[in-house]
Amino acid sequence: MFLLDSHCDTPSHILRLRDLAADNNYAHVDFPKLRRGGIDGAFFALYTPASLSESESYIHALKLLQGVRSVLEFHKDKARSATTRSEAYQNRADGLFSIFLGLENGAALGSSLERIEEFHEAGVRYITLCHSRNNQICDSCAEGNGWNGLSKFGKEVVRVMNRLGMLVDVSHISDSSFYDVLETSVKPVVATHSCCRALCDHPRNMTDAMIKDLAAAGGVIQVNFYPLFLDSGFKHVLEQSGIMEYGERIEREFIADPASSTKRAAWNKVQDELNALARPSYKLIADHIDHVVSLVGIDHVGIGSDYDGIEVTPQGMEDISRMPVLFEELRGRGYTDSDLSKIASDNFFRIL
Ligand SMILES: [Zn+2]
Repeated sequence: MFLLDSHCDTPSHILRLRDLAADNNYAHVDFPKLRRGGIDGAFFALYTPASLSESESYIHALKLLQGVRSVLEFHKDKARSATTRSEAYQNRADGLFSIFLGLENGAALGSSLERIEEFHEAGVRYITLCHSRNNQICDSCAEGNGWNGLSKFGKEVVRVMNRLGMLVDVSHISDSSFYDVLETSVKPVVATHSCCRALCDHPRNMTDAMIKDLAAAGGVIQVNFYPLFLDSGFKHVLEQSGIMEYGERIEREFIADPASSTKRAAWNKVQDELNALARPSYKLIADHIDHVVSLVGIDHVGIGSDYDGIEVTPQGMEDISRMPVLFEELRGRGYTDSDLSKIASDNFFRIL
């Protein structure tokens, strides 16, 4: 079994000065945790906030790419880039962790189809079409109808990605954008970090019908670990706590000035407060996996934790080193070695 996580926001933390070789407190992903978790590879998302303009988004994506490249350069004894299953298996045979790249938020493409090629050449193998706002490509599930799905340019983007062999990531896009993608794409698509709306009613999650249509087109849904997407009750817990009312500002101040130990400590204090909340159990992740399997079988589900992109984790799955606990839970629910291997990466690699 090759254990792959299809969505980690670790590049953002590289820019926030995280040393990936250290066993960091308040971090979800670093090399010691990856090793303890038995993780063989992960997609590092080049995530650009929806608040940036298209040109700022492009510049930020390049900055993140540079950050990942310097990690690869600095830690040649620990990690190597990968773009295919065979490269990833070779890396593991060489004792190295595989870093794959995804671009999270197609805003960085601006109005240029050539940039898709540029990111492809840089090693990027999926693009999450948008984030929390509508962009030039499509509507976001967080904002609703602008284009009523994919824009004309968005359809071109999907076609170019198909031609280059880049996966279209449908996480974050609106339901109508999702259906436009399915209609436009001639290849299977992926939700790199999404959960099931039937279990937790959140617009970021996929309905049963969407999961069935995604699977019918050969695609895969990689289950997200974010408590707000796993458990509808957690929204109330978080709102009642009032933490994010000041927490978001404190996080923004830390992001803007990561070298400041005061600002880092202030954000870490907020993280402590979040961790002290009644967080849902990691077993809900297995519930979401079970639900996908009950709908479409074992061949269309995987893991896309969203670690380092979520400010709070489920109880028992505090960082990526905890992953074996989830697989033990799945084993206890009757999944065979072959099933677990499919969830761990075979399903995702089938369409990569
Ligand atoms: Zn995301």
